[in-house]
Amino acid sequence: MRIGVLALQGAFQEHVQMLQRLGVAAVEVRLPADLEGLDGLIIPGGESTTIGKLATTFGLIEPLRQFAQQKPVWGTCAGMIFLARQIGRDQPLLGVMDIVVERNAFGRQVDSFEVDLDVPALSANGSQPEPYPAVFIRAPRLVEARDGVAVLARLADGTAVAAQQGHWLATSFHPELTGDPRFHAYFVRMVAGA
Ligand code: GLN
Repeated sequence: MRIGVLALQGAFQEHVQMLQRLGVAAVEVRLPADLEGLDGLIIPGGESTTIGKLATTFGLIEPLRQFAQQKPVWGTCAGMIFLARQIGRDQPLLGVMDIVVERNAFGRQVDSFEVDLDVPALSANGSQPEPYPAVFIRAPRLVEARDGVAVLARLADGTAVAAQQGHWLATSFHPELTGDPRFHAYFVRMVAGA
């Protein structure tokens, strides 16, 4: 199995390391040709406007859309924004996943926070999994999950922060910045099952 990590800007190196820790070959993706032979792709957190601009410059938008139609893709934070169909402003997006997302929904950089989340989907054997430590950095929130989108995690106030639609996964937070590999393992299982 080979999983790509979009390596234009942002926290891609941490995703690569997490995949390697799980014994998965990780490939940095900067050009359309880099997508060849990959089984899945992670779009990291960073700055979605910058990622969109660079993806446009390098001719990646259409190849990424085509890839996403066929293979599992996971967007974290800015990556979730990049996957969303609608964000209420004009910037380059893949726009494949039926979610409406609001950028910077929790305030500024200083309002970044870490919280333990209940994520039943991370259960390996049907038992209640340990809480997942989630890091939010100028994070987006899921305003609307349309038909076919399952919400995987919510904050205590009900705000949706992780969702899956078929082979697409989106998280508001940064699972590559905590030492907990369970979200990456979950995505690896999605890729293995695709
Ligand atoms: N605020 C960033 C954006 O709008 C996302 C922040 C992040 O990825 N940590 O793209």
